[in-house]
Amino acid sequence: MAISVEPPVVFLADANNGKRVRKVPKKEWLRHEDVYPPIISREDWEQAQALLQKQIRKRVKSNTPCHRYAGLLACGDCGAPFVAINRYWNGSCRVEYICKTYMRHGKDTCTSHRIREEKLDVMVWELVSATHESRAEELKKLAQMQKIWALRKPILDAHILLLQEKVQKLEQEIDEIVMEKLIAFKNFYCDDTR
Ligand SMILES: [Zn+2]
Repeated sequence: MAISVEPPVVFLADANNGKRVRKVPKKEWLRHEDVYPPIISREDWEQAQALLQKQIRKRVKSNTPCHRYAGLLACGDCGAPFVAINRYWNGSCRVEYICKTYMRHGKDTCTSHRIREEKLDVMVWELVSATHESRAEELKKLAQMQKIWALRKPILDAHILLLQEKVQKLEQEIDEIVMEKLIAFKNFYCDDTR
């Protein structure tokens, strides 16, 4: 008979000696709930499970890149990427980015360029704000232009219509002149043959 212990190890008593232990697939488990008196209350168990889940989520989160500028910075002198380092100072920790060449091979290979993450945050924020402001200004100008063009549109449409009518009239005049010329030429030609 199988006795399940959750999770993750499952013991299966061997039919011959009762000592062998191996993992049993979950679908083969036989669950007998509340057979033994509980060591801890269900409430405590559920709370502990919730805390464990939280820890798992935390661990997963900590595996994601925590340096937001990693892979985005390059040294102006040697072109090598900047790498993030944690600097401990007066009991606090701050992140700095430093030229990889300098960090690995020292001052003979490159200068000690470094920049604090907070400073980058400020610079990025300023850049984003400036870009946002200039875009907002451009958008405002475009909206104004659109408004002016929208106001001028009926006038321009009327002007286009007027010009189209003029073109039509001129085309008619051309047709009439051509016809007149043809008739005159025909009359002249007929007179000559006689
Ligand atoms: Zn460098």
